[in-house]
Amino acid sequence: MRMNRRWLFADQLGPHFLDRPDQPVLLVESKAVFRRRAFHRQKAHLVLSALRHRAAELGVEPHRTETYAPAVRTVREPLEVCHPTSRGARELVRRLGVTVLPPRGFVTAPRDFIAWADNRRGALRMEDFYRDARRRHDVLMDGAEPAGGRWNLDADNRQPPPRDTGRLDVAPQPSIVEDEIDAGVRADLDRWEAEGIAFVGRDGPRAFPATREEALTRLRHFIRHRLPLFGPYEDAMLRDDPFLAHSGLSAAFNLGLLDPMEAVRLAEDAYRSGAAPLSSVEGFIRQLIGWRDYVWHLYWYFDAGYATFSGMGANRPLPGWFAALDADAVEAACLSDVLAGVRDRGWVHHIPRLMVLGNYALQRGWRPAELVDWFHRSFVDGYEWVMTANVVGMSQYADLGRMTTKPYAAGGAYINRMSDYCRGCRYDPRTRLGVNACPFTAGYWAFLDRTRGRLAGNARLAQALRQLDRLDDVGLVREQELARGSRAP
Ligand SMILES: Cc1cc2nc3c(=O)[nH]c(=O)nc-3n(C[C@H](O)[C@H](O)[C@H](O)COP(=O)(O)OP(=O)(O)OC[C@H]3O[C@@H](n4cnc5c(N)ncnc54)[C@H](O)[C@@H]3O)c2cc1C
Ligand code: SF4
Repeated sequence: MRMNRRWLFADQLGPHFLDRPDQPVLLVESKAVFRRRAFHRQKAHLVLSALRHRAAELGVEPHRTETYAPAVRTVREPLEVCHPTSRGARELVRRLGVTVLPPRGFVTAPRDFIAWADNRRGALRMEDFYRDARRRHDVLMDGAEPAGGRWNLDADNRQPPPRDTGRLDVAPQPSIVEDEIDAGVRADLDRWEAEGIAFVGRDGPRAFPATREEALTRLRHFIRHRLPLFGPYEDAMLRDDPFLAHSGLSAAFNLGLLDPMEAVRLAEDAYRSGAAPLSSVEGFIRQLIGWRDYVWHLYWYFDAGYATFSGMGANRPLPGWFAALDADAVEAACLSDVLAGVRDRGWVHHIPRLMVLGNYALQRGWRPAELVDWFHRSFVDGYEWVMTANVVGMSQYADLGRMTTKPYAAGGAYINRMSDYCRGCRYDPRTRLGVNACPFTAGYWAFLDRTRGRLAGNARLAQALRQLDRLDDVGLVREQELARGSRAP
């Protein structure tokens, strides 16, 4: 029987995006995508490398065109595609008359999410969705009860990092060896740059999986060697150990090289066999069937206007040093190191994204929509669907609480507790006024002062606002931070 041809976008590269291994496929490499916006050089490399490796595995040549339409016009048989991951791509495939199948690469079906969300009054909390997903997919359940008797083991996690060693005692991820496909990608990107296509960030050896084999090797290694320490140090930051015990697999999931459910089952097996503690396993599974799926569904559930929300009144443009990933312009040790991580590898883990980059942008009142675009372009795992809720809702509170109960704003004390940055910094995390005033600490009070009218009814901030009222130097802090503005701190 003749099969439909399956169009595989560059984030649909695993075997689960085909019905049969010999199904005819269409793979397209569109140069116009890179002309439109300046992506991180290593992200462009990873995506092209993954697409070309998949084409080689399937024994086909990807179409190399400016835009998708000419490639689609060459197809003679009926063409179908698994639901694309952005509104723009969904619009495109519909316009081109391609049959759209249900999405793959996520855990909960759209209709189940919609039923769950439509039944809620008020905010859509991740924790509720996650518990529902555990039950629905029978993950870490002992009958009707959560394994170990608790849904959430966060209280056992969140330990500060081991400061004396500066590194976590955990096996490093298996290294990646570039091949001739990577050499071809690098040569093409050099040529494109010479032609005037702009990138951000530095080039470097490919650090993330581009093939299913590389992704599976990293996943199995993570489950066996790194997962036990994942939970306790999930929120810690170390200057010399950016990965700690994180999986580093987000790009592999988002390219579609791994299916989240296979990782979830391996993690659960590790718990059941006693190879990893429940706190780590529950923490990891929460990220995948909870957070990852939740932000995917919210992208579609909220309308397109959500991406432009700015409920906190943030209207300052992203400063040039931040946009250009100019870490050398920054003296604040935490921000400089995290920005250097983005510049040098297009990846830092969750807490630097939320509590350093996002926190600083929130405090300074930078436009959320510009920040969404920046995260999307600058991170190897950045995609519109994953960015919108994470940045607009979670990190910038620009939706005024449709996702989270309070803004993720914090002063230097949090960063000092959870990292080894402050002892090597020219600023003092305890000081809010004067030449040594930590820009995060002073910025935190100035932020509360500036936005108190919008936050006044928030019970979770009542104590912080009372503390603000007791500060006798808040006027001076306000002036100092107005003067600092968006300059590199
Ligand atoms: C401001 C901000 C921007 C972010 N941008 C992205 C992004 O562009 N792409 C992206 O994949 N993640 C994004 N995240 C979520 C999270 O920070 C990354 O998924 C994670 O740091 C990737 O590293 P890891 O693979 O080692 O994750 P681990 O800590 O090992 O977690 C395991 C997996 O869980 C998933 N996951 C965990 N948290 C989230 C989340 N909040 N949203 C979606 N998936 C999650 C990822 O697939 C990740 O690989 C963002 C978070 C914030 C606060
Ligand atoms: S003192 Fe402030 S700016 Fe310096 S590392 Fe600590 S939190 Fe960052």
